[in-house]
Amino acid sequence: MTLQILKSLLLVCIVSSTIAYIGYKNTSKSFVEFFIISTILQFVFFYFYNSIIAYVTRLKLEKQNLDTIQLMNTNNVLIDCSSCKKTNNVRVVLTESNDFVCEHCKTENGLDIQFNTITKTKIYE
Ligand SMILES: [Zn+2]
Repeated sequence: MTLQILKSLLLVCIVSSTIAYIGYKNTSKSFVEFFIISTILQFVFFYFYNSIIAYVTRLKLEKQNLDTIQLMNTNNVLIDCSSCKKTNNVRVVLTESNDFVCEHCKTENGLDIQFNTITKTKIYE
């Protein structure tokens, strides 16, 4: 981390020196003026650049998290086709209609989900 910062600072100094040298040779302004201005401009530029990169990365991570949560909210069930009676692996999402096409006979199937309750019993020893 510290090494990376030192590398970045060195790079900024090299770029500033180059710009300052070119500016100093071609205008009446001094080397130090060009050096300071180009260093400040680089810091400002990289501040905004890093902010944008961090923002984009955060958006990507949030979308990835959302996708993961959505995936966790789905379940796969093994269910027989209504036509050929062969087993299909179907993703079930409770908030959507769960139609599927049979992998074997290509028949379009709808999924009828029913919920039943059971009484849980305890076995006393
Ligand atoms: Zn089928």
